Amino acid sequence: MTVRETKVAKNRELFIAGRKILPGEKVNVHLPFSETYLGSPISVPVRVICGEKDGPRVFLTGAIHGDELTGIGIIRELIYDHFPELTCGTLICMPVVNVYGLEHHSRYLPDRRDLNRCFPGSQNGSLSSRLAHSVYNEVISQCDYGIDFHSAAVRRTNYPNIRADMRNKGANKLAKMFGSELIVDGKGPAGSLRHTAVKNGVPVVILEAGEVWKNEPSVVETGVRGVLNVLKSLGMMEGEPKKPLFQVIARKTKWVRAECGGFLGFHAKPGDVVEKGQPLATNYSIFGSEKRSLISPEYGIVLGMSTMPAVKPGEPVYHIAVINEPTFKKIRKRIDQSSDKLLFNRLQSDLSTNITIEEHTSSDEIPLP
Ligand SMILES: [Zn+2]
Repeated sequence: MTVRETKVAKNRELFIAGRKILPGEKVNVHLPFSETYLGSPISVPVRVICGEKDGPRVFLTGAIHGDELTGIGIIRELIYDHFPELTCGTLICMPVVNVYGLEHHSRYLPDRRDLNRCFPGSQNGSLSSRLAHSVYNEVISQCDYGIDFHSAAVRRTNYPNIRADMRNKGANKLAKMFGSELIVDGKGPAGSLRHTAVKNGVPVVILEAGEVWKNEPSVVETGVRGVLNVLKSLGMMEGEPKKPLFQVIARKTKWVRAECGGFLGFHAKPGDVVEKGQPLATNYSIFGSEKRSLISPEYGIVLGMSTMPAVKPGEPVYHIAVINEPTFKKIRKRIDQSSDKLLFNRLQSDLSTNITIEEHTSSDEIPLP
């Protein structure tokens, strides 16, 4: 879908950290937000790519959670290998928002706060609140659209999915333009960048993909393709967007949890399209004297899963994006018949690396005495 009717105010000036960004400029700006114990300034690195003509302003953010490198890899690949030659508009890239978290190998900030619950922040607030305020005021609030990159939490992986408030017209349009197979509808938690920005009139979606501390090549390719799709759809670049293998909007997700303490035999991969009642994993007790099948409660797509085979009762194993039976049949048919599913296959393979995915056998269904 190409959307070229985007209305933006003409001749808006753009200032970041006091620096005026001129038409046609490609510059690095440092956005100061704090100081070290020794008093040296700490800043968020910002890359601004400005077209010659007015147009939409789009931001990209990564590592708001300091251990989620997905956005860093996607923005790096975009800038170095797929440099977007903009016919109009501005692209503002912030690969590392939570500078402290990345430096200290942590999801959080040194004050133990989650930056993605602190937006829009405050100038005189906590360390996290001040960082949120700088980024929100200097960049986010000046933009027309934004994409925020995340990955699954520790010891889990996510099949790439766009999270968007589909009741918001702009976010709905942006989610569809990105061109991922799976869109999960929801507003996101209060205080998150996306929730706050959408509430204040800046449509933002997030891409949830892959694992912490990793840059899976197919996840990076998915992210770059999505950003280029958005830029082309907004008329900021020449060319036609690439279509996904299929596109489905899930309005509900469900967790499948472990039943007994022990080990798991996984039977489904991220991105698998599963049917209601399908065995997803076998939950063995430590010596295998007990076996329980973990079953998909609905027709759905494996949105996320644990990468840790050891479990305790109640721990989440599979996250299923719920779809209805006709959609399930349509997607299965599309996947079976498509000749262009290289990226889909590579994503499934990359995301299940180092996880043993075993065929489910009938003996897995019978609990041992
Ligand atoms: Zn995150």
